[in-house]
Amino acid sequence: MRTPFVAGNWKMNKTVAEARVLVAEMTPLLRSIKGVEKVLCPPFIALIPVAALLQGSDIGLGAQDLYWEAKGAFTGDVSPVMVAEFCQYVIIGHSERRTHFGETDETVNKKTIAARSAGLVPIVCVGETLAEYESGRTAEVVSRQIRAGLKGLEAESVHKVVVAYEPVWAIGTGRASTGLDANLVIRDQIRMSLAEMYGGAAAQAIRVLYGGSVTAANADEFFSQPDIDGALVGGASLKTEEFVKITQAAMK
Ligand code: PEP
Repeated sequence: MRTPFVAGNWKMNKTVAEARVLVAEMTPLLRSIKGVEKVLCPPFIALIPVAALLQGSDIGLGAQDLYWEAKGAFTGDVSPVMVAEFCQYVIIGHSERRTHFGETDETVNKKTIAARSAGLVPIVCVGETLAEYESGRTAEVVSRQIRAGLKGLEAESVHKVVVAYEPVWAIGTGRASTGLDANLVIRDQIRMSLAEMYGGAAAQAIRVLYGGSVTAANADEFFSQPDIDGALVGGASLKTEEFVKITQAAMK
């Protein structure tokens, strides 16, 4: 049995003052939802105040990125140990980082290994672009991203990693995939690749989320699929009612 998982990726939204308001609004509602692992991923600068607000709750905190080195001359970056002081999770390889910041399968792999070494749960994002989708390369791209991005992890703890399948063409566009299509990619590419790398038991234990224009209206379609264990939510995670409804849907 895989515990359902819902994470909110706030991206570069909300000042610290705004973050406090949103968390204060969401927390009591999210706390009443049991049986779902719930995670908020605000911008770096809001992590410390949000950590204080979440203290004593069952809501986890995640960063949106990290650098793989432990410390040193890497101006502007934040290390896994620094993130782990306040967070339990970290998003790695989001398509916006791949597109705008030159993230590659290799950097995703270094960050994922570094995150695990610091005791963090990485939420590793994979997904094909619109051009790759339209040219029928989804399977090839997604399995390559999994094989390269998740290689070299400790076999005993690989089940702690969370994977998010996020077709790039569905992110922030309002054009979500269908539950059926997303489930097929997750089952036939993601779990299959993981099974070849780490064995069938690990592949069945790893939570795989869908991400890309998830809303309260379409969440059920994804959560009713056998291989989809939850969602990585962008835009809708900034709206209390939407995010709470999506999290409630995951509970079923
Ligand atoms: C995301 O940022 O990971 C995402 C899926 O965004 P949205 O839900 O807005 O499509």
